[in-house]
Amino acid sequence: MKKNVKIIFHIDLNAFFASCAIIKEPYLKDKVFVVGGNSTSRRGVISTASYPARKLGIHSAMNINDAFRIYPKLIIVPTQFSLYQKYSSLFFTFLKRYSNTILEGSIDEAYVDMTEAALKRHPLELAKEIQEGLLKEHNLPCSIGIASTLFLAKMASDMQKPLGITVLRKSDIVDKLFPLPIRDCYGIGKKTYPRLEGIGIDTIGAFTKPENKNKILTIMSEPSYLSYIEHIMGRSSDTIDPKKYAIPKSISNETTLNYNMDSSLVNLS
Ligand SMILES: [Mg+2]
Repeated sequence: MKKNVKIIFHIDLNAFFASCAIIKEPYLKDKVFVVGGNSTSRRGVISTASYPARKLGIHSAMNINDAFRIYPKLIIVPTQFSLYQKYSSLFFTFLKRYSNTILEGSIDEAYVDMTEAALKRHPLELAKEIQEGLLKEHNLPCSIGIASTLFLAKMASDMQKPLGITVLRKSDIVDKLFPLPIRDCYGIGKKTYPRLEGIGIDTIGAFTKPENKNKILTIMSEPSYLSYIEHIMGRSSDTIDPKKYAIPKSISNETTLNYNMDSSLVNLS
């Protein structure tokens, strides 16, 4: 039995810890600041950099000291986990208006099965409403990826930040996914990607080339390799199990996302 194509949204709150800091201290808006480390000793590691800080080359996992070298007037905001918990739960509560099938990817990201909602309203219209609603009601900016599998939706939400909405159809995989650096492939960790780059696999497209398979198998197991191929080609899971906390590895969908975003079911005015 062929399953129907799902409409999966991956909703990723942009620079979540920094957004929460701005909610609490609005003067931080447009300021070069980071969350994390220790504000008195100037030690530790950055967990989130504000967008103005990112423009200067300051990023998460960077040492606070190195960031100060780049920008001596850097503002350091301590992490405030109760604040993040509060806004995370507001985020998930907001999403329940749109679907009952939600998977918490992490504190600041959600996979949402929008298949049912999209029967009545255009997915892009729904995405815009969610994005604007989260910003208006909770001051939380987000990027949304729309696709037929969890993996593709996750990759799509990463393509335009902040405040992006990206549709990734199966027919877009070659044009939009293949040119990306292999380190941007969700799931490929910071231990694996330098080794892949070391053997000349520097893009997602290169990873999928059959002639590169044997080379890649010197770095990862065949089941992992095959699982990544299924993810990349849009054949991995489209099923959101709210009890799970990771992208399921099973292969379950052979269909394409043939939903035509341009010939809308509803008026997009
Ligand atoms: Mg995020």
